[in-house]
Amino acid sequence: MVSRVIPVEPFDLVIFGGTGDLARRKILPGLFRRFCAGQMPPEARVIGAARAEMDTSAYRTFVSEAIQEFAGVLTCEDGTLDGFLERMHYVPIDARGENGWSELADLMRDDVVRAYYFSVAPGLFGDLAERLNLHGLTDEATRIVVEKPFGRDLETARALNRDLAAYFDESQIYRIDHYLGKETVQNLMAVRFGNMLFEPLWNSQYVDHIQITVAETVGVGGRGEYYDKSGAMRDMVQNHLMQLLCLIAMEPPSKFDPDAVRDEKLKVIRALDPVEPHHIVRGQYEAEEGAPGYREEVNDPRSRTESYIAMKVGVSNWRWAGTPFYLRTGKRLKARCSEITVVFKALNHSIFGEQEDHRNVLSIRLQPNEGITLGVTIKEPGPGGMRLVDVPLDMSFADALGDHASDPPDAYERLIMDVIRGNQTLFMRGDEVEAAWAWTDPIIDGWETRGDVPKTYDSGSEGPVDAVQMLARDTRVWRKVAS
Ligand code: NAP
Repeated sequence: MVSRVIPVEPFDLVIFGGTGDLARRKILPGLFRRFCAGQMPPEARVIGAARAEMDTSAYRTFVSEAIQEFAGVLTCEDGTLDGFLERMHYVPIDARGENGWSELADLMRDDVVRAYYFSVAPGLFGDLAERLNLHGLTDEATRIVVEKPFGRDLETARALNRDLAAYFDESQIYRIDHYLGKETVQNLMAVRFGNMLFEPLWNSQYVDHIQITVAETVGVGGRGEYYDKSGAMRDMVQNHLMQLLCLIAMEPPSKFDPDAVRDEKLKVIRALDPVEPHHIVRGQYEAEEGAPGYREEVNDPRSRTESYIAMKVGVSNWRWAGTPFYLRTGKRLKARCSEITVVFKALNHSIFGEQEDHRNVLSIRLQPNEGITLGVTIKEPGPGGMRLVDVPLDMSFADALGDHASDPPDAYERLIMDVIRGNQTLFMRGDEVEAAWAWTDPIIDGWETRGDVPKTYDSGSEGPVDAVQMLARDTRVWRKVAS
């Protein structure tokens, strides 16, 4: 199958924080991969901006090193990297000062798409928005991209939305949740809304429950100071797991259009039930040989921040009332895997007599090995009567679609190109983010009021035993955490 890459319009993309970790590991390598795929037109330019004093030549060396370290398996022919580097520029700029703004204004062109990526701490979003406006660097077609964390509660999220809304219309603001840029997440929408097969069964009459798991093997590492002020609920559930839940639970939008999709996601968030304390398990990993425990890693022996959370969530609407959504995410777990599992109900009646419990299970795997698997029940081969067995019907994209599917664009690549195309479908709208915080805040406040202490769990395990017991009380089991 031939890959169809349509070049985007010429653009000037300014990366504020162009020397930071995110730019180095994700944004610049992502742009390079799109360049190699032929998606960047010759007139496209990328302008790094940060306080560090350096010239464009030094920035090109920085970009070159980032590409070589993080662009992955993709290698360009000799000369191609140079072609990419020629499009890189750098301006020293202070988001909070006057330094560099007129140089940036001189560099920007009028007849191309202008996009500003705020790859800096959220505390600088307002300063950047204000100075861009002050120096005449924006117009109605300008786009700005902002990163998570978008607030740490409803109040701070509202303040950020207000800071941006003072200078930009909502249609110009691209709030990144990179989970939405993953190939399989979009495939989830294609599978749901592009087939006759699933949608009629996609409700509480046929679906027993849904599990969403995002498991990591790493601990907090060098992010300890930041993470301890955040925890799994703020860092993962309020954004990534919430977005996955929305895509699974939402009603079919009338068309695949940014506001139609985001309207439906917003309705899901507003239909979420408050979560009872006994439907939440919080955990902290313990030390293992050679690796410190959570509290040592964050250097606070009394920390009550969770590195793991499991919860049972209800969606009170016509489609989902009675079907629980079980969410869990954590660090230092047994395997790295992100997976959504839709477990269908057992048959009302088996014509094959006494058999084990057989159910259809649809697994949507985000990482590793992106793909979708449907468990179906068939006859076990061989003589000896009608014994039933469950086998996976593997919808591996690589097998069906060849190389084109085996190396899909990374989430950041896709999302940056969507910004240039002006397509907001895979970005969070301001009201969605606020609704997600409005649901999250009372849960976190409850822990603080009650002095909730996380359970401990062994590093390399599947999480606290209490999480297993929470599902056992509902006569259900978690899917194995396996890579
Ligand atoms: P970082 O490594 O600390 O980089 C921060 C960048 O901002 C640097 O380029 C820094 O350069 C620049 N900067 C700081 N103060 C500035 C100022 N006053 N004016 C202009 N530039 C300034 O941070 P990061 O990890 O790249 O993260 C950037 C943003 O993305 C943060 O909001 C973070 O939460 C978010 N994020 C990061 C990741 C990730 O994997 N790293 C993932 C998701 C979200 P100078 O010091 O030279 O100015």
